[in-house]
Amino acid sequence: MNLPGNCPAPLAIRNRRNTRSLVIQWTETDAHEISWIELRGSCPCAGCRANRLRGNISLVAEDIAITAIHHMGYGVQLVFSDGHDRGIFPWVYLAKKRC
Ligand SMILES: [Zn+2]
Repeated sequence: MNLPGNCPAPLAIRNRRNTRSLVIQWTETDAHEISWIELRGSCPCAGCRANRLRGNISLVAEDIAITAIHHMGYGVQLVFSDGHDRGIFPWVYLAKKRC
């Protein structure tokens, strides 16, 4: 995977239950939102990446949720309601559409 350059840590991350998404506040004026389903489907852990490389399309349950967020310094570890907690999402990965 070709990751873009360094991304500074966001100011804040909010787990927004009413929209079932994560809101990443990069700066005072720049935030973006990624749905829980999209995050689960793009989990960067070795197991999920290998699955995707094999062409397996993992079906993500529509009621998937993020139940915990652990700050890891260079990113966040997300814990999903299906018990999957191996994905550590670096800032550059979360910011792929913008930096
Ligand atoms: Zn995973």
